[in-house]
Amino acid sequence: MTARIIDGTLIADEMRAEIAEDVKRYAEAHGAPPGLGVILVGDNPASASYVRMKRRACEKVGMRSVGHILPASATQAEVEAAVTALNDDPAVHGILVQLPLPGHIDESTILSLVRLDKDVDGFHPVNIGLLAMKGRDPLFTPATPTGVMELLKRAGAVLSGANAVVVGRSNIVGMPVALMLIRENATVTICHSRTVDLRGQVGRADVVIAAIGKPNFIKGDWLKPGATVIDVGTNQIPDADDPRGYRYVGDVDYDTAVETAGAITKVPGGVGPMTITMLLSNTLKAAWRTAGQA
Ligand code: NDP
Repeated sequence: MTARIIDGTLIADEMRAEIAEDVKRYAEAHGAPPGLGVILVGDNPASASYVRMKRRACEKVGMRSVGHILPASATQAEVEAAVTALNDDPAVHGILVQLPLPGHIDESTILSLVRLDKDVDGFHPVNIGLLAMKGRDPLFTPATPTGVMELLKRAGAVLSGANAVVVGRSNIVGMPVALMLIRENATVTICHSRTVDLRGQVGRADVVIAAIGKPNFIKGDWLKPGATVIDVGTNQIPDADDPRGYRYVGDVDYDTAVETAGAITKVPGGVGPMTITMLLSNTLKAAWRTAGQA
């Protein structure tokens, strides 16, 4: 069997075109486009590049982006002041605090300070708590897990009653994606570094979500034939044939997995493009909600 490719780039492009149309409608109705406020602390090149990509994506769909770029030496009070400024700015509908923050900053306090109705990254503990509660709905869900769910939906994956295995239990990917799968009535197993017989667990899964951060870790012959595989992993490996000297691979060994899976995402071109798209979608949702029309 050769798996069907779930094309995140294509799906993200379709969604961004829909978002751009809706941004236009919003701007016509309210005289200004939705706005995203971004906080970047320090000079981590990967974080700076993510922030640039997010701001560019915003502008491409017609949204405004407001940046607060603080030096690595910024104090807790200065970062808190940046969040408060964005909380109070009526032209800003969503706030993104680029993680990780430098070690001397209390990340949890910063994330808790973001106004709930502007928490477009979905990392506020109240939003995560609401996600975990039956019968309650968060205002926003985190971008990457939401992107994973959108890929599953658009790939036609049947989730109700399916065995889903999430490998990884981080706050930003594994745990929220597991909570979202439960809400779709999947039977969810969460695996992590202490899991005994990971291969056996993965082998029982109709749906596998890999979010480990280890290149090509999950092999094709671990998978149940026909499984749907979403690979969140984004790992840089050396590649002398690439002009950059490196390339990105996922947590799943794509070349073998494509032979066993029923449907699979690629890295790059799978979850990555969806993450920013879901952030744009959440910001638009926040703007309509503030305007009382969502
Ligand atoms: P973390 O490092 O925070 O979490 C990794 C998780 O994997 C942990 O729960 C860890 O277990 C588990 N793990 C590590 N080793 C093993 C192992 N040998 N067997 C089973 N489980 C293991 O990573 P993130 O969740 O932040 O990111 C995961 C991957 O997703 C990374 O490659 C990252 O780059 C990528 N990513 C991609 C995004 C995108 O937009 N495409 C966005 C965010 C992340 P334990 O809890 O026991 O330590």
